[in-house]
Amino acid sequence: MYDLPDSIPNPPALDAAREVLRRTFGHSDFRGLQAGVISELLEGRSALAVLPTGGGKSLCYQIPALVRPGLGLVVSPLIALMADQVAGLQQAGVAAERLDSNTLPDERAEIWRRIDAGVLDLLYLSPEGLMQPSMLERLSRLPLSLVAVDEAHCVSQWGHDFRPEYRMLGRLAEVFPHAPRLAVTATADARTRDDIRAELRLQGAAEFVDSFARPELALNAERKRGKGHDRVIELVTERPGRAGVVYAGSRDSTEKLAEKLIAEGIPALAYHAGLDKGVRARRLEEFLEADEAVMVATIAFGMGVDKPDVRFVIHADPPAAIEAYWQEIGRAGRDRQPAEGITLYSSADLAWAVRRIEAKEAPDEVRQVQLRKLRQFYAMLEGVTCRAAAVRRYFGEEGVERCGVCDLCVSPPTGVDATQAAQKALSAAHRLGGRFGRGRLVDHLLGKTKDVTPAEAAMSTFGIGKEFSPQGWRDLLDTLVFEGLLKEDPNDGRPLIGLGEAEGVRQVYRGERLVSLRQAPAGVGDGGKAGGKARKRQALTVPLEDQMLFEALRAWRRDEAHTQRVPPYVIFHDATLAEIAAARPANLAALAKAGGVGQGKLDRYGEAVLKVVRDN
Ligand code: ADP
Ligand code: ZN
Repeated sequence: MYDLPDSIPNPPALDAAREVLRRTFGHSDFRGLQAGVISELLEGRSALAVLPTGGGKSLCYQIPALVRPGLGLVVSPLIALMADQVAGLQQAGVAAERLDSNTLPDERAEIWRRIDAGVLDLLYLSPEGLMQPSMLERLSRLPLSLVAVDEAHCVSQWGHDFRPEYRMLGRLAEVFPHAPRLAVTATADARTRDDIRAELRLQGAAEFVDSFARPELALNAERKRGKGHDRVIELVTERPGRAGVVYAGSRDSTEKLAEKLIAEGIPALAYHAGLDKGVRARRLEEFLEADEAVMVATIAFGMGVDKPDVRFVIHADPPAAIEAYWQEIGRAGRDRQPAEGITLYSSADLAWAVRRIEAKEAPDEVRQVQLRKLRQFYAMLEGVTCRAAAVRRYFGEEGVERCGVCDLCVSPPTGVDATQAAQKALSAAHRLGGRFGRGRLVDHLLGKTKDVTPAEAAMSTFGIGKEFSPQGWRDLLDTLVFEGLLKEDPNDGRPLIGLGEAEGVRQVYRGERLVSLRQAPAGVGDGGKAGGKARKRQALTVPLEDQMLFEALRAWRRDEAHTQRVPPYVIFHDATLAEIAAARPANLAALAKAGGVGQGKLDRYGEAVLKVVRDN
């Protein structure tokens, strides 16, 4: 699915870019499609790039902005995202700033002074900030190296992150006709890519779509069992000493879950849009700076949170499409060290999501697309083959292989034919006429209904299901709901269960459609193979003999980050510290060889790091 220009033009310019990559960012060579995207911009042409999370999207515009003359503009949807990137760039010695609603008048004046003097290389702006007429007017008089639109999928109303203010960015083409434009995102199926092209006037631009593979991510999904969030608490307490994110469906449940985790001794923080802005900012900062902390959040938390060492993302409640799923889960393991994504879901979640989409005030076509995306997502959750492969195929990748680390790869479920039992359940649901919940339906099948009416006791389906335990029937009912054969009406929290899609039900009655039950494979945390294997992969692998030094380097980094009030990872990533701990460099030249140590950081921290190495 690569769509590359025939040859990579103008190698000298690319050489200059590679030199910046080495000197400023401390990386030895380009990764994936970076070189292609960067060449395109260096030639002054626009491009659309879809690279996976952690794939190095930001360098695709940062480096051309440094190599080409003029100021590079970067449009980004969130202040947190801009703040992080600008802090990282400044650490590397790059002249980068951001202008947003939090910028003080004095700072603003100073930034403009540097822009007018031509000494600023990168300026980060929100879409609404950039599109103000006075801003456009001022910027259009300057030489620009490029205009980059980050998280470009926000422009598409098919996506899950639609931001109306992104629509204004279509005008960039006419306002800055001479600047090449780059749209970048981590998630965009073919349709969203078309939307991005149309909205941002990128019709002629080269398209770079990298593989969506995230080999460091072990995916797991399991049906919710038992009451409340006990399973989530269990999953989190089984993963101590790490940074993680738990997504929950409501503000209230984030608070309750965080409380319960704190009671278990886990440093948990709740985060949602209903919290005071200051509280949110403090908690975000605390999370970013911590080596271990669990953020329990609604989806208000996430986009632009680039903490590289998040080791797990748990969905206490599931999202509603693969795009959102991939983006949320994708926040684990950005440093490419092993990480986990675990999703808990139920047929009730599906029913609620359907209800929400149906109640939306959107064109019918949009609702249909969203319902289809919802079904495709649950088909993946309920699927029997590799999850990562299913996701990648969904995004249009071809020739995808099994990941080997998801729960379905590690312990493939064996299907058991349950067509006969399904027939019983469907006809019982039919007889009961959709007036009862699943508990009552199960009791009916088992012949255990309390205070049963004579009419119900006389039904031919009453007590015909002795072959399964109550839990067995619940599992089967879930399967039937997931397959659309039963339909659950949320009924304000007391769901009623009735027959689903008529043709499908008929086919099951006639035995033309088989229903197979996934024999519950050992779950993630219940001592099964999947859990054990996944857990062993998690920690960054620092050999025993390097661990003392590694920890000493982390302690030094913590102090340094604290003094400067920046997140530790903008100073050095764990992977860089691990490399230093292994190499034990004796001088600056040796230290410069570690990945992530560019000239700026070498000047700034080189001696201090060498001292930590000598002393430990
Ligand atoms: P994303 O695509 O998720 O925005 P980033 O641009 O934040 O990714 O990059 C993710 C990480 O990968 C960063 O720490 C960055 O320094 C690192 N990185 C990017 N490009 C390279 C490269 N060519 N070689 C090594 N590391 C790289
Ligand atoms: Zn797999």
